[in-house]
Amino acid sequence: MLKKKISVHGHFYQPARENPLTGNIPDDSFVIEQTAGKYKNWNELINSQCYKPNSELGNFELISYDLYRSLAEWLEKYDNSTYKRIINADNHNYITYGYGNAFAYPYDHIILPLLNEDDIDVEVYWGIRDFFNRYKHMPIAFWLPETAINLKTLCILERNNIKFTILAPWQIDPQYTLDTEKLYKCSVGRGKYIDIFFYDGIFSGDLSFNNGEMANADTYVNEYLPKSIHKNFNIAALDGERFGHHLPGGELFLKQMLRDLFSNSQMEMVNIVNEYMSRTEKTVVRIAENSAWSCHHGGLARWQKDCDCNYDTSRGKRVSGNWKTQLLSAFRVLSAQVDVYFEQSVKRVVADSLQMKREYINVILKIEDIDSFIDRFLIKGINQDEKKKIGILLEMQVYKLSMFVSDTFFFADVDRPEPRLNIKSAAKVIKMFNDIDEHELAEKLETEFVSQLEDIRSNFTSITAKDIYYE
Ligand SMILES: [Zn+2]
Repeated sequence: MLKKKISVHGHFYQPARENPLTGNIPDDSFVIEQTAGKYKNWNELINSQCYKPNSELGNFELISYDLYRSLAEWLEKYDNSTYKRIINADNHNYITYGYGNAFAYPYDHIILPLLNEDDIDVEVYWGIRDFFNRYKHMPIAFWLPETAINLKTLCILERNNIKFTILAPWQIDPQYTLDTEKLYKCSVGRGKYIDIFFYDGIFSGDLSFNNGEMANADTYVNEYLPKSIHKNFNIAALDGERFGHHLPGGELFLKQMLRDLFSNSQMEMVNIVNEYMSRTEKTVVRIAENSAWSCHHGGLARWQKDCDCNYDTSRGKRVSGNWKTQLLSAFRVLSAQVDVYFEQSVKRVVADSLQMKREYINVILKIEDIDSFIDRFLIKGINQDEKKKIGILLEMQVYKLSMFVSDTFFFADVDRPEPRLNIKSAAKVIKMFNDIDEHELAEKLETEFVSQLEDIRSNFTSITAKDIYYE
């Protein structure tokens, strides 16, 4: 009898927690209070519940996963053993099958369709290079933040040699009937395609929320799953922190589930990359433009304006999300000013400024030093001061992009840690103009930026985004 295939993808992400102005990770009073001082921030707490135990139990080897750059960087620095076990999980698969089971990611966790085309391209390119630097092989698959897509983003993934991604079942163009067993392909023009698996919404929802059935992994696999899954191929994609953080003991459930599936006569575990490589048939599909897995209000509303996602769970209150429109607009204005300045500064001395921005990841990853890097792109000689200026302008791109990290726009209010970090990234960008002796410009940009923050007021406290800028 043909065994039914089960595939689980875990999305593992925590934002960068360093204040861009100081480089320090602020203590989180809530976490300190909840853990009686044992842990100082969310990364430490969730590591103890999820990343560390799952890596020790060998779970990363059997599922597929994405470990976002900001979290990978934190683990690398603060729990290197866990970090290495997670990277090795992919590498074992790579050695065994010729393909790893880790997915690539953009450099920052940003809703990519909300960026301009060059910035999407830089984010994707930087993310892939960061992935290569960690895993030592090129990725086949890519996990998009919040699975947010538009055709432009898929086109850029394809141009960067990504083969497939996983999307939510409601991200298929409604004209098509979805069968989550199938592998789909979406045209991105020029006769090229990006391939797509749509995850099974019921199976994913079950693994994400069915605490009752998940109390016992043996009965879940041997009694519940045979009744609840009906397809030959069943893929769940979910927040990986479910296993240990959202569901205490979930890491042991996952381990037991994977072990039971290994010796099961009716079902087997497959990782999605191996499954992808085994497929020959693909069905043409179109995607629902500007859609994501965690907002159903059209047009990626959650990350740019008010919608019914703007509900504060701790207070049980639906509040206005209009602040998102104002804050995103302020970031976009500043970002455009940075880009105009950059282009004007390099246009006479650099032939391909976009390629220069893309390859700047080599400097970020310390593969190339800044001096020889800039030399490589120059079409005419410049002095040391001009060179230094270009170096600072390239570094400014890092902070410009981190203004758009999606966590800020995910939650209901501006008076939270996440918006603070994005606003501090903007402050850092403005401050960097002083570093290139553009003091008047820095002052002008600050005045303009802050004036856009004045009216952005918390729904719950008296704090404005302007107050946050000056904190
Ligand atoms: Zn929404």
